[in-house]
Amino acid sequence: MLVLDLDGLLEQVKAFSPRTIGIQLPAGLRQHAREISGFFDSRGYEVVFSGDPSYGACDVADELMGSLGVDLLVHFGHSRMLPSSRVPMIYWDVRDDVPILPTISGNIDLIESMGKKVGIATTIQHVHKLGEVVEFLKGRGMTALLGNKVSRVSNPGQVLGCSFETIKGLDVDFFVYIGTGYFHPIGIALCTDRPVLYCDPYTGACENVEKEKNLILRKRYAAIEKARSCTDFAVIVSSKRGQNRFSEALGIKKLLKNNGKNCQLIFAEEINNSIIQDFDFEVFVIAACPRIAIDDASNFDKPVLTVTEVGMMFSGEEYSFDEIHKI
Ligand code: SF4
Repeated sequence: MLVLDLDGLLEQVKAFSPRTIGIQLPAGLRQHAREISGFFDSRGYEVVFSGDPSYGACDVADELMGSLGVDLLVHFGHSRMLPSSRVPMIYWDVRDDVPILPTISGNIDLIESMGKKVGIATTIQHVHKLGEVVEFLKGRGMTALLGNKVSRVSNPGQVLGCSFETIKGLDVDFFVYIGTGYFHPIGIALCTDRPVLYCDPYTGACENVEKEKNLILRKRYAAIEKARSCTDFAVIVSSKRGQNRFSEALGIKKLLKNNGKNCQLIFAEEINNSIIQDFDFEVFVIAACPRIAIDDASNFDKPVLTVTEVGMMFSGEEYSFDEIHKI
């Protein structure tokens, strides 16, 4: 169960002495809106929720809330990423108290069959449990490693859908990802050449994601192949500050033009199929969150590529996941 810890948040809020608080909730926390507003209303604060999507720590509503004149923005559900904001901002990450060890111990035969050295990864909700997982696996005679935190994430072992820097350099035989959903373990698998076990503490199941990874790779290579025969490209840059990759977009435009393609730039807040439908370009390169092209490909009517896939189109090199390294 997710623990909001509103009392802990209140202590931080008080330091800003706000009258009006803007609140941004990812989809999975919106069912707590009444609880959150009730908590702050009863203490004399005016609360305004952002109704726009909140995809990640890269996507803060400080411009929107700043235009409304709120005194403070609380961004729920993600750990700190952006160092500055238009209005004072608190990143309030939310932890999950679901036990992890029963899933690890319940699948220990599978885990031990994968090798001796394992890298452990998770998302912000479970990072506080990684220490006990490492100790448990060490007790089984394994070497269990957490990568160091990096600029885009705040905790050792933490990964984002666009950043696996914490764990990528680990000298391990395989990775164990702890969490729910294929989004992050598939990212690890695409980003590293090691097997990935996806262990879900809610179902207690662990599975190797190799099959899902290969399915996605087949689709990515098909999109690259289709794009290779096209002439008119557009590169879409996002106005979300943690996804803004304008300089990379300029580099991609140059690369495309040097290889005989036409290319235009598009700047957008939301990247969706209406952009792809309305503009008459043949291929769209997403210089924003790399998961838009990879995970939402079926929502688009035309080929969409990541930044690194454009390079592969000309070089023919092996698949390279499009990580975002900067803040
Ligand atoms: S860029 Fe994409 S994967 Fe990375 S934090 Fe933002 S929404 Fe998540």
